[in-house]
Amino acid sequence: MNNKSIAHFYRVDHPHMVGDGFRVKGYLPGPHNLQQQVSPFYLLDYNSPHFFPATDTPRGVGVHPHKGFETVTVVFAGELAHADSTGSSGTIGEDEVQWMTAGAGVLHKEFQTPEFSREGGVQHMLQLWVNLPAKHKHHQPRYQTLTRENIPVVKLDEKGSVVRVIGGDYIGVQGAAETLSPLSLLDIQLVPESTTAVPVPAGWNSLLLQVDGDAVIQEGQESQEGDMAVFGPEDGQITIRTTRHAARFVLMMGEPLNEPIAAYGPFLMNTQQEIVEAIQEFQSGKFGHLD
Ligand code: MN
Repeated sequence: MNNKSIAHFYRVDHPHMVGDGFRVKGYLPGPHNLQQQVSPFYLLDYNSPHFFPATDTPRGVGVHPHKGFETVTVVFAGELAHADSTGSSGTIGEDEVQWMTAGAGVLHKEFQTPEFSREGGVQHMLQLWVNLPAKHKHHQPRYQTLTRENIPVVKLDEKGSVVRVIGGDYIGVQGAAETLSPLSLLDIQLVPESTTAVPVPAGWNSLLLQVDGDAVIQEGQESQEGDMAVFGPEDGQITIRTTRHAARFVLMMGEPLNEPIAAYGPFLMNTQQEIVEAIQEFQSGKFGHLD
C-alpha cells in the first residue's frame, strides 16, 4: 500500500489560555482553517507539556455550554476533573480520556483536580471536538470516562511499541469509546528503532499530531513533538519510523460528515439558524443548571 501524501504539515507556536488552566495551541481549524478536510473533527487544542506551580485554588474553566458535537479530552500528564448539567462528573489522570457528548446541549466545567493543584506539576493534554452528523446533533448529552484499564492496548512488537485504541477500531480491536459516526482515535507509542504502518479506510480523513519524541513519517518527513500532519484524500497508509528516540502520536481518522458546518463559540451546528436557536436555548436555561 502506498503512503498517503501530506497535504499540510505545520506546528503552532503561540499558545493562548482557556480559562486559567489550559495553555493551548490551536491546531484546528488552525492556521489553514481546515474544516471539511478534517471532518468529522473540528477543533483541536493542544496543551504541550507545561508546568503549573502549586496553588490552593484549582485552575480551569468555569461553567459554559456546548451543543452539536463531542469534546474528547486526552490527558498525557496531569489530572482533570469534569462536572456537567446532566449530573455526570469524573476525574481522569495520565493516559485517560473524557469523551463528552454535548449533543442537544449541556453545561459543563473543566478544572485541574485539587490534588494536582496543591502539588503543582506538568500538564500535557489535548482537547478534540468531534462533530456530530445532523441526525445525532440532538443526541441526549452523555459522558464516557475512559480509564487506563478500559482502553485496549495492541502490541506492535516485542520491544514495547503499542497502539491504544481510544475510539473506533484498530485491526479489528474495538476501542473504548462509543462513537456516533465512523472514526478511529489511536494513541500510538513507538520505542526507538521501530516502524509501523496504519492503513486509512478509503474515503476517510486522517491527521496525526505528535505529542512526544522524534520520528520520520511517510518515509521522508521529519517530525517532532508539536508537529501536525494532515493527509491527502487518496487511498493509502500512514507510516511512522523512529530511530534513536521514542515517539508518541495521536492519530485521528474519520469518515467525513459531508454536511454544512455552522460554528459559533461553543456551538457546532449545520445552519446559522440553528446557531441562533442554540444561543436562545442556552440563554433560556434549556441546557439545565450547574453551579
Ligand atoms: Mn468545554
